[in-house]
Amino acid sequence: MDKKVLYPHRRWNPLRQSWVLVSPHRTQRPWQGEVSQKAAPSAVAYDPDCYLCPGNQRAGGAANPAYHGVFSFENDYAALLPDCPAETGPPVSPLLLAEPARGVCKVLCYHPDHSLTLARMTRPEIRRVVDAWTREYEELGSMDWIEHVQIFENRGAMMGASNPHPHGQIWATSFIPDEPAAETAAQREYLARAGPCLLCDYLAAEETAGERVIFENEHFAALVPWWGVWPFEVLVVSRRHLSALPEMSGDERDGLADALKRLTTRFDNLFETSFPYTMGFHQSPTDKQAHPEVHFHAHFYPPLLRSATVRKFMVGFEMLAMPQRDITPEEAAQRLRACPEEHFWARA
Ligand SMILES: [Zn+2]
Ligand SMILES: [Zn+2]
Ligand SMILES: [Zn+2]
Repeated sequence: MDKKVLYPHRRWNPLRQSWVLVSPHRTQRPWQGEVSQKAAPSAVAYDPDCYLCPGNQRAGGAANPAYHGVFSFENDYAALLPDCPAETGPPVSPLLLAEPARGVCKVLCYHPDHSLTLARMTRPEIRRVVDAWTREYEELGSMDWIEHVQIFENRGAMMGASNPHPHGQIWATSFIPDEPAAETAAQREYLARAGPCLLCDYLAAEETAGERVIFENEHFAALVPWWGVWPFEVLVVSRRHLSALPEMSGDERDGLADALKRLTTRFDNLFETSFPYTMGFHQSPTDKQAHPEVHFHAHFYPPLLRSATVRKFMVGFEMLAMPQRDITPEEAAQRLRACPEEHFWARA
């Protein structure tokens, strides 16, 4: 059998001019996601069956240390592996293109307390996570074959999170994936044509317009983007032009922690639920090139539409033609602005 089908690789889609990552070895992933519809915070601070809680044995066999702050490890069920066999010969057809995909997949536990989420962690606790993200980006990004470091979090079973323990993931890859590649190209093109920075200019336009900005602190702005697709999609943008986490001052890292705390709290308060989302940072690729065009930002893509259980589906016209939304970005921003920044579920 072609070795390619046994190892992580990416296949080229000539119709869409895009890649799809294939991880055939990644079976047997444990599922500890919430199965109930109403996602209340977990009642227990320690779950003996959770593979992310301190001291517990993971499915892969390793045991977690009795960690107190943050804790990261290489994913036992990584979608990408550091070592991959080289290409095994020419493709059968130029329309059946694939190439090896190498990478490192890590899990970052945000806190030892199983019951917490970013929304219910304190600012100093979130700052520790920001510092850990920064370290991981630096360490992984400095490896000579790593061209991109994607930090992200899937929150809630609705978004496919396999475990409610507060954690995120970091996938570092030997290539720049399509989403950040497209955004980096757009920012580079803007710099060359209009300059100096697409997102600096965009943020200034949103601050002038005002109606889509949810809140700002000294260093970050949270807004529902003009082009947002998900009902309560949010963009968190640094107010200073910077390209990656390591460029942030201590004050700016505190500012990011504050913005994440306030945004996730508003999200939870919106439908009085532990609000599901996928979030992640876009920053400079680590392809050892200069990226003055890239402006650091976070995307939040939450699926909920009308309540804790009514979600938006991307189906039909949206899958086949283009995204569509009902609630306008202006209305979404207004509703998030109206949410309090005290969490509805007080922490014991
Ligand atoms: Zn846990
Ligand atoms: Zn900028
Ligand atoms: Zn982006």
